[in-house]
Amino acid sequence: MALIVQKYGGSSVGSPERIKNVARRVARWKAKGHQLVVVVSAMAGETNRLIALAHEMQEQPEPREFDVMLSTGEQVTIALLSMALMDLGVQARSYTGGQVKILTNNAHTKARIMSIDEALIRRDLAEGRVVVVAGFQGVDMKGNITTLGRGGSDTTGVALAAALKADECQIYTDVDGVYTTDPRIVPEARRLKTVTFEEMLEMASLGSRVLQIRSVEFAGKYRVKLRVLSSFEEEGEGTLITFEEDQNMEQVSISGIAFNRDEAKITILGVPDRPGIAYQILGPVGDANIDVDMIVQNVSHDGMTDFSFTVHRNDYQKTLKILEPVVKHIKARGVEGGETIAKVSVVGVGMRSHAGIASTAFRTLAEEGINIEMISTSEIKISIVINEKQMESAVRALHKAFGLDQPA
Ligand code: ADP
Ligand code: ASP
Ligand code: MG
Repeated sequence: MALIVQKYGGSSVGSPERIKNVARRVARWKAKGHQLVVVVSAMAGETNRLIALAHEMQEQPEPREFDVMLSTGEQVTIALLSMALMDLGVQARSYTGGQVKILTNNAHTKARIMSIDEALIRRDLAEGRVVVVAGFQGVDMKGNITTLGRGGSDTTGVALAAALKADECQIYTDVDGVYTTDPRIVPEARRLKTVTFEEMLEMASLGSRVLQIRSVEFAGKYRVKLRVLSSFEEEGEGTLITFEEDQNMEQVSISGIAFNRDEAKITILGVPDRPGIAYQILGPVGDANIDVDMIVQNVSHDGMTDFSFTVHRNDYQKTLKILEPVVKHIKARGVEGGETIAKVSVVGVGMRSHAGIASTAFRTLAEEGINIEMISTSEIKISIVINEKQMESAVRALHKAFGLDQPA
């Protein structure tokens, strides 16, 4: 008998029929004698609908109320799934994040899980019930409802698996595993049988939304056995996320191409080049809890330089506002920015031991006539900022250039 945490995403619970389908799968695992904790997302499109509704009331919805509302999507699906299970003769009970209780910090809309009180779940499991938990939500110390950021149900799943020391955490979604890139953009993409935590971490942070980055962090930290599978297929081994040392040494150099369109670029022009300037610019941005991603400072001419960085598009306007007084204070020439950028990244642990990856990437983009606006690299990735319009052709060209396309 194993203790298994399964998480089903929005499209997997997108209709009553699909929820019944999930119930049948859960019932099959239960019938094999396993203990099951099931985490579900809101039905497909529901979270977007709720967000749009909130924006009809307030341009910037008040964070506490926003979370009260966003969390309702998942509350519907936990009840529906529990009903579907009972209809199949499987004992089940649903819980909201607050009931479980999943304790988070108070950073509304992007809260972090701090602890999970698993006593209630264990009692239900011992009594033979399937426990159904709402993804994406928790409560802070004061009992306020919080949410974990888009895609946060993955993190609920993995955090529960860690807290319960589950034998496996299975993430069921609408693709049958982690691919070399998003199969919706590149039909030739290949499913990876395994991917290392490190690579998955990079891919998730660089935009592959198949797993929320925090779920991968949790899995790495608590050594959760994590697998991505399709909820639409009966069989299939999906993709197992492994630790690097488990892998054989015959590493391919590149495992995938990730991309995202969620960032915006900001450039401060004519910045006096003196010590402390980066701090003067980015300090106030960080203080406002805005994450800065890529940063580029140009060579200075006559003591002046341009300073560029990217932030999430949701934070773009807020960042520009924060910078207004800063620009005046440091006597820079001005600020310009754009929301029409995309970031494309080449990821692979094998990059460490293979030279020439960067030059292959740059040559490929040159041949496609794609202009590179920013570059950043780490040991296992190269990220490039380009015009959003050219993103798909860049992803396809790089996927092919690194030999990732499926053999025809
Ligand atoms: P869920 O609602 O189940 O959480 P998501 O939409 O969040 O599903 O994530 C699954 C989607 O992630 C897929 O439909 C696919 O388009 C996208 N995706 C992006 N990159 C990858 C990748 N490398 N491998 C697989 N899927 C990917
Ligand atoms: N329903 C939430 C979202 O759409 C959480 C999730 O699906 O993981 O982002
Ligand atoms: Mg998701």
